[in-house]
Amino acid sequence: MTTIDSSSDHAGPGLAAADSESLAGIIRSAGLKVTAPRLAVLRALTAAPHSNADALFGVVHAGLPGTSLQAVYGVLASFGSAGLVRKIEPAGSPALFERRVGDNHHHIVCTRCHAVHDVDCAVGHAPCLEPADALGFDVRAAEVTYWGLCVQCQLETASQLETSHP
Ligand SMILES: [Zn+2]
Ligand SMILES: [Zn+2]
Repeated sequence: MTTIDSSSDHAGPGLAAADSESLAGIIRSAGLKVTAPRLAVLRALTAAPHSNADALFGVVHAGLPGTSLQAVYGVLASFGSAGLVRKIEPAGSPALFERRVGDNHHHIVCTRCHAVHDVDCAVGHAPCLEPADALGFDVRAAEVTYWGLCVQCQLETASQLETSHP
């Protein structure tokens, strides 16, 4: 682990006290020490689920200029082992992080713009898909990624077709 715990404990400027307090409570109840980088990463993830580490670093660094990308990775790793965040890795995308954990939800990904959205578990409890032959495994989860064109990309590709065929 890096030394993120040595960062200052105050939450930084411009933050609603109630917001920081509830985020701090979430971090504390996961058994982690509350630090400014942890608060900032959790807040950024709340605002933008399915963010990658670089995007989170951009947001966090804007509010806490002393924070390194490595510190953000350290925060994400500690959140991951504490069960606060889930990491997904759709093919062709960097690892994405989200706070919605433990419900075995799936993701729908746009093949054109790589937008990612949540879709509920196909049946409601894990694993939502029973394999035809589980080979004796005690199956705990099924990870499903649906691929397609998002609404915006459907509109944009349709209008491109129109302009290329006048
Ligand atoms: Zn799209
Ligand atoms: Zn999700």
